[in-house]
Amino acid sequence: MSIRDALCRPFKMLIVSLAVLATLIAVHQQPEAYAASHAQIVLLGTGSPPADPDRSGPATAIVVNDTPYLVDFGAGVVRRAKAAVLDRGIKALEPTNLRVVFVTHLHSYYTDGYPDLIFIPWVLGRRVPLEVYGPRGIKAMTEHLMEAYSADIEARTNNPYATQRDFPDGHKVNAHEINAGVVYKDENVTVTAFPTKHAMESYGYRFDTPDRSIVISGDTNPTQATIDACHGCDVLIHEVQTLESLAKRPDFQAFATHYHTTTRQLAELATKAKPRLLIIYHASIALRPAVNPQASSPEELLNEVAAHFSGHVVIGRDLDVY
Ligand SMILES: [Zn+2]
Repeated sequence: MSIRDALCRPFKMLIVSLAVLATLIAVHQQPEAYAASHAQIVLLGTGSPPADPDRSGPATAIVVNDTPYLVDFGAGVVRRAKAAVLDRGIKALEPTNLRVVFVTHLHSYYTDGYPDLIFIPWVLGRRVPLEVYGPRGIKAMTEHLMEAYSADIEARTNNPYATQRDFPDGHKVNAHEINAGVVYKDENVTVTAFPTKHAMESYGYRFDTPDRSIVISGDTNPTQATIDACHGCDVLIHEVQTLESLAKRPDFQAFATHYHTTTRQLAELATKAKPRLLIIYHASIALRPAVNPQASSPEELLNEVAAHFSGHVVIGRDLDVY
């Protein structure tokens, strides 16, 4: 070995070590987020009814070949989509691209971003109608929102100076009331609805894309239909209530027993459904305890699930990408 090589070797080792360290840090910050994959899951909102500034209302985007598909539209959905463009580099989620949406159920905090989704992308330049798929009642909700915002619609479509006048279809909605089974199919996805068990008519959805199968629960009691819909799927996105938070809310326990899923039940369900990745959303947690004293910490939630589920599980946070 030459003197030059002997001097260079420690230097090279240092460079290699730094490169490995940088890779480890990158992987730790965004596990799987930017994996080469056609289908990306972007968690736009992972919250629940409490007005949590860290977690918007439930909304999930599945992006396939630069085409976005949404599930649910809780409060903040359009701004979170724009945040995904700016902060995560997912250009497909430009608000004007939001055109195809599936709704799990019509509870207010899953749907109170609906006028946001109908009207703001139109104002920003969407030229085609929104296609919305959901349970019975979605047509009436859509008609009532059109009526509620008729002054805005008239002002924009009849005013010679309003730019929306040139694309009058951009605020329109084709609302499709669905039954269980395949509800949508195009070159990117096949979407299958399955019945869930909640306080009203409700559905979960399975997305089959060229490279991934993704199942999302919405609000539900544990059901065999969810297990069957996943059945070894790539990703299961499921709601949950911690036992700890339920213990603090005796007034909510009867409702939760009938219409939601505990950590213990989710662990049992996931053990049977065998997803390669379980993403928990709509959980009874708060990232800051002051937001909701009855909520659990993310650590407590993970402890409760991991105690009975040995698979890969993560707690979804707003703007996480999987
Ligand atoms: Zn609900």
